[in-house]
Amino acid sequence: LVSRLRPFTSTIFAEMSALAVRTSAVNLGQGFPDTDGPAGMLDVARKAIADGVNQYPPGPGIPELRHAVAGHRARYGTEYDPDTEVLITVGATEAIASALLGLVEPGDEVVLIEPYYDSYAAAVALAGATRRVISLVEDGDRFALDVAALRAAIGRRTRAILVNSPHNPTGTVFTREELDQIAAVCREHDLVAITDEVYEHLIYDGGRHVPLASLPGMAERTLSISSAGKTFNVTGWKIGWACGPAELVAATRAAKQFLTYVGGAPFQPAVAYALRHELPWVGGLREDLQGKRDRLSKGLAEVGFYVRASAGTYFVCADVRPLGFADGAELCWQLPERVGVAAVPVQVFTDNPERWRHLVRFAFCKRDDVLDEALRRLAELD
Ligand code: PMP
Ligand code: GLN
Repeated sequence: LVSRLRPFTSTIFAEMSALAVRTSAVNLGQGFPDTDGPAGMLDVARKAIADGVNQYPPGPGIPELRHAVAGHRARYGTEYDPDTEVLITVGATEAIASALLGLVEPGDEVVLIEPYYDSYAAAVALAGATRRVISLVEDGDRFALDVAALRAAIGRRTRAILVNSPHNPTGTVFTREELDQIAAVCREHDLVAITDEVYEHLIYDGGRHVPLASLPGMAERTLSISSAGKTFNVTGWKIGWACGPAELVAATRAAKQFLTYVGGAPFQPAVAYALRHELPWVGGLREDLQGKRDRLSKGLAEVGFYVRASAGTYFVCADVRPLGFADGAELCWQLPERVGVAAVPVQVFTDNPERWRHLVRFAFCKRDDVLDEALRRLAELD
C-alpha cells in the first residue's frame, strides 16, 4: 500500500458495524436510516429499471436531474446553469474527492475543521495535498468555530477550505456569523470553499440552512456539494451533486470522469422526481428526526451522559466522563460486548484525539423501538 494511504486502511464505520453484527448489538454507530424513502420516488426508480434506463447516463448526469438540482439550489437564492454549473456524482463522497483532485495541487494545503468526516483527510491525501486542521471549540453544550485558529491556519500554500454544516459528528449548524467569518477569510485569501451540505434538510427547531455560496462574494469561489442519501433516506443509492462556477465544476468533472465516469442511471430520474415533488415528505422526515433526537438525547442524559446540543444531522454527541469513563474509544470498543450497543468515538474524526477523547457519537436516525432498546441496554451500564 502506498504511504499516503497507509493511515487510512479501514474506516471506523466498517469496523464498528462489523463488531455490532458479531455481538448482535443495536447499531447506533453508522449513520443510516432504517426506514425507506418516499414511495413515489421508489416507484420512479423501479419504473426506470423496467423501462430500460440501465445503461451509462451522460457524463455530467441526466439533464432532468441537473435541472432539478439547479431548481432546488435556486430556493436558497443561488442560480446555477444546469449545463455547465451542475455535476452529478456518485454520492457527496465522490464529489468531495473529485473536487480536491481537480482543484488542489500536490503540496497545496487544505483547511479541515475537526472533528471532520473521515473521507476528507483521505481525499486530501489522495490529492497529494496537506491538511491544516483547526478544532471546533466547546461553548457550553454547543461546538463553535474558532475564528482565530482559522485565521492562523491560512498560509501561502492554502488553496481551499472544506466546510461541513450541518456538521457530522457534532450536530452543529454554523450560525450566520460563523459563516460570515469563514466567508471573510475565503475572500481575503482568495480560497476555494468546498462545502459538504448533505444534511441541509435535517436542521431542527425551526432553523434554516444557509449555504456558504449564498453569502456576498462567495458564489464565485464555492463548490456546494450535497446528495440524496440523507434527504430522501436512500444512503445506498449514492447520487450526489456539486454546484458552482463553471471552472470549479469543470475541474471536478475532469477528475470524476476517470474515477467512476458516471453512476446510478435508474436512480437519477428518481432523485430528480424527489427534488421536485417530495420536499413535503422531507418536512415530515425532519419532524420525525427532531423527535428522535429529543428521545435519544433525553434517554442518554437519564443514563448519565452529559449530552451536547444537536441542531441538525443524524447525530448527537455525549460526554462519557460523568459515567466514570475517561476515554470514549475505550468505551465504544467495550460497549457492544458489555451491553449490546454500538457507538462511535469522536476522536477518530480528529488529528488531536486527546482533545476529543471524552466524546462519543450516537446516531438517532433509527426507529423509536430501536432507540428505546438501545437506551434500555445502556441503562445496564455500570
Ligand atoms: N459527508 C458527510 C458529512 C456525511 O455524513 C456523509 C455520510 N453519510 C457523506 C458526506 C457521504 O455522503 P454520500 O453517501 O452521498 O457519499
Ligand atoms: N455518514 C455515515 C456516518 O457518518 C456513514 C458513512 C459511512 O459508512 N462511510 O455514520
